[in-house]
Amino acid sequence: MHTTVFERHSVSESLIDESLAGSKNASFWVDDVEIPSLSRYAGTTHCDLAVVGAGYTGLWTALLAKQRHPEWRVVVLEAKTPGWAASGRNGGFVESTLTHGESNGKSRYPKEYDLLDQAGLDNLDAIEKTVKEFGWDCDFSRSGSLAVALEDHEVEWLKESADGEREIFLDQAETLQRVNSPTYLAATFSPRDTAMVHPGKLAKEMLRSVRDSGVEVFSHSSFSSLNASTEKVTLGLAGGEIHAPRVALATNAFPSHLRRYRLHTVPVYDYVLMSEPLSAAQKKSVGWTGKEGIADLANQFHYYRITADDRILFGGYDAIYHYGGKIRRSYEERPESYRKLASHFFTTFPQLEGLRFSHRWAGVIDTCSRFSAFFATAHQSRVAYAAGFTGLGVAATRFAADVMLDQLDGERTWRTELEMVKSMPMPFPPEPLCYPAVQATRAALDAADHNYGKRGLFLKTLDAFGLGFDS
Ligand SMILES: Cc1cc2nc3c(=O)[nH]c(=O)nc-3n(C[C@H](O)[C@H](O)[C@H](O)COP(=O)(O)OP(=O)(O)OC[C@H]3O[C@@H](n4cnc5c(N)ncnc54)[C@H](O)[C@@H]3O)c2cc1C
Repeated sequence: MHTTVFERHSVSESLIDESLAGSKNASFWVDDVEIPSLSRYAGTTHCDLAVVGAGYTGLWTALLAKQRHPEWRVVVLEAKTPGWAASGRNGGFVESTLTHGESNGKSRYPKEYDLLDQAGLDNLDAIEKTVKEFGWDCDFSRSGSLAVALEDHEVEWLKESADGEREIFLDQAETLQRVNSPTYLAATFSPRDTAMVHPGKLAKEMLRSVRDSGVEVFSHSSFSSLNASTEKVTLGLAGGEIHAPRVALATNAFPSHLRRYRLHTVPVYDYVLMSEPLSAAQKKSVGWTGKEGIADLANQFHYYRITADDRILFGGYDAIYHYGGKIRRSYEERPESYRKLASHFFTTFPQLEGLRFSHRWAGVIDTCSRFSAFFATAHQSRVAYAAGFTGLGVAATRFAADVMLDQLDGERTWRTELEMVKSMPMPFPPEPLCYPAVQATRAALDAADHNYGKRGLFLKTLDAFGLGFDS
């Protein structure tokens, strides 16, 4: 069996213990900013659009709705506080891809891939423009990304994928000039396709602009029932009711209120560490002045980036599905995942030995079997629903908001006519089948990572049916 670089160069248990000793189990991003507390919904309201969920999907939907229809009364209901879930816990990679990468997009939507690729770039450009226009203070920078090869066979993959323009091949010396890690054998640099952002500041600034545009946003207002007549939809909450001719459901990994889509996503826990700020000497030892987002290439991959105040976020690798698909606070504490991440961090950057982690946290990803968002309508298109971003939704949520608004406007647009929008992913099997199926897939992915990336029969069969598990 082939070993990974993290197994060949593992680090001492005491180094891991010390690095994690003072860390807090909370997302750094929402610890670093204060998102205003809003009132709880009470009473009866009639509005033009009700949005459920105040993560990026819900906030983009509200903001773009007011741009399309300034006269509309728009209400957003949030079960906890805006941005508390995935939108306040992610890596802050704002990626242009709408299809979870080029190869997934090309294999699933070969005829429209070029259109989806351009739409993703336009979407990222539109986000950048909005950040500037609204003056969002969210550390947005179009710094690009590096895909780094840690094994010889991955160097070959990079040579094949590099086109010299969107993806520029860097040999080992060129890679180390950018970021200094003894694990790097080569990289590709993608200058246009990725921006980096502070996810908590982004949520806070989006909320500010949403409210400035006249949208009413309520915290701690979880809706529990949805009833539709021919004219309107009624959302029932503990504090009252909302009547609207249009409803957008932006609830991500949380159970879908359209029951028939409950099995189209599974909640998968992804784990993250955030370091303390690097000293000037530590920074010099790493380089990384371009502040590119970095990801490695195995099935079980890491993503990492450096913040505006020179902390390193290091996340990924484990992707944990719990039997029954519940979302629970207790699942956010998983010492073995944090210890693995700390170990892999110091294998990547041994020169940072002694650096400590200030925060550790987990977040839930809405994994779907095709890895990119799906779109559904119900009740004569009065209700629109988008989910399934599978760990790449910071930018794609804006595109999804536009799709939902097209659908709720009753318009046929180039977006609503896309194969990606009209088709649905295969649902996951119900329990007791789902858990063993996910475990078997994870084991097969791990086996491929230990066999020079070669996919075994089980994975090839899933590939043939367009099924998969990712984060
Ligand atoms: C650890 C982690 C790292 C990630 N890294 C990246 C990355 O670097 N780049 C990237 O592109 N993507 C990343 N993602 C994915 C990205 O964060 C998500 O795709 C995106 O934030 C989804 O936004 P959302 O608004 O759909 O979901 P969420 O932010 O999860 O918001 C959904 C909201 O709906 C609310 N809600 C649910 N049910 C109800 C109800 N009944 N009533 C009222 N409100 C309700 C919830 O309270 C929640 O606030 C990551 C995700 C995680 C967890």
